[in-house]
Amino acid sequence: MMTLQRKCRVLIVGGGAGGISVAARLSRRLAPGEIAIVEPSSDHYYQPLWTLVGAGVVPKELTRRPEADYIPRGVEWIRDRVSELQPAANRVLTENGPSIAYDYLVLAPGMKLDWERVPGLRDALGKNGVCSIYDYEQAQTTWEMIQAFRGGTALFTMPSTPIKCAGAPQKIMYLAEETFRDEGIRDQTHVIGAFGGASIFGVAAFRPTLEKVLARKQIDFRPKHELVAVKAAEKKAVFRVSSEQESHEVEIGYDLLHVVPPQCAPDFVRKSPLATTDGPVPGWAKVDKHTLRSPDFGNVFALGDASSLPTSRTGAAVRKQAPVLVANLLAVMNQAEPSARYDGYASCPVVTSRKTVLMAEFDYEGKPTPSFPLDPTKERRSMYYLKRYGLPFLYWGLMLRGRA
Ligand code: FAD
Repeated sequence: MMTLQRKCRVLIVGGGAGGISVAARLSRRLAPGEIAIVEPSSDHYYQPLWTLVGAGVVPKELTRRPEADYIPRGVEWIRDRVSELQPAANRVLTENGPSIAYDYLVLAPGMKLDWERVPGLRDALGKNGVCSIYDYEQAQTTWEMIQAFRGGTALFTMPSTPIKCAGAPQKIMYLAEETFRDEGIRDQTHVIGAFGGASIFGVAAFRPTLEKVLARKQIDFRPKHELVAVKAAEKKAVFRVSSEQESHEVEIGYDLLHVVPPQCAPDFVRKSPLATTDGPVPGWAKVDKHTLRSPDFGNVFALGDASSLPTSRTGAAVRKQAPVLVANLLAVMNQAEPSARYDGYASCPVVTSRKTVLMAEFDYEGKPTPSFPLDPTKERRSMYYLKRYGLPFLYWGLMLRGRA
């Protein structure tokens, strides 16, 4: 028989952007010892700056801080990894410790980067011009490779699966292109964006601006190109190209290859009774898109990248989700109906150069929801400074403290 060695009132899985934001807000409302967070990592990362690490603007160390500094007072930190969810028994299993029973569960474990799904990619990464900003160490390597590049084909990919920050694959492409110009090697360089989606950006209002950026930078944009293999020895990337009628494979040779890996929910979420079963990529923690509460298990909530919320997976979205989740969780704890509503707000600061950002903010309907009284479809220098300095301060100083 299994012994239950731990029990807590609210258990939060994942101490990233979502988990810590929720913990910080909840800790002001519950007694010390009532909340526990399971988080295996000793470090907390501000991933949105990895794009600027890849472009040599900031060192990678600026994006990492000790997790311990952000666990709120009175919250227990369980340094382990959840391996199984058993919502019918109000219990989770962990890799190394005893099972943990809870009254209420908040899921915020982020996404799995599925490098293995592209044969040849894992082995190729970090060598001979193959790089990715989707990893702390590799972001730095990306900048080294962009600097070492002396002309030829620079190839940038994006999968058709949901990914963290759908703008990041094009941001690094624009910044690399700017570097090639600065280095005087743009004439000898063919910049290709081979992306899995049908257009450069999912939200229609911002597309014309980004199509102009592609034209201005003379980037060869190829939609509906899904990376399916990397042949590192031949320096070739293999894509499945699909149209309504058919699909076929093409190979593109590269001298520099920036890859964004396919992404999905973590295995323990995908295999659980809490996972979605529909859609092209199933397995997300299923919650109501307005209340963030599970429709099947009323004591379970989820937010962030691992959730089924049909919006862009960003830290900006998490910032708006956290207060809604906490309000609804407290309501349910007090036997009331959850009444706070999340409208799908997400934001993607699309860095188009080392001086400009297109600040794309939108809701579930794809309607622009600008935070400033300015035309949101314009690239702006002020928004670049917000991305570089303002948003990191907002994240570390306010959001993770439950104050924004
Ligand atoms: P995370 O912050 O990733 O946290 C998940 C946590 O769960 C981690 O700490 C992890 O260690 C933990 N965990 C994982 N597995 C387990 C387990 N089994 N048990 C317990 N804990 C576990 N967002 C923006 O708003 N703007 C941007 O410009 C932007 N740019 C980005 C650029 C890049 C290159 C990347 C990678 C991301 C970017 N994002 C951006 C996205 C943003 O970082 C994420 O959307 C945000 O971090 C999601 O928060 P989360 O809490 O869901 O996941």
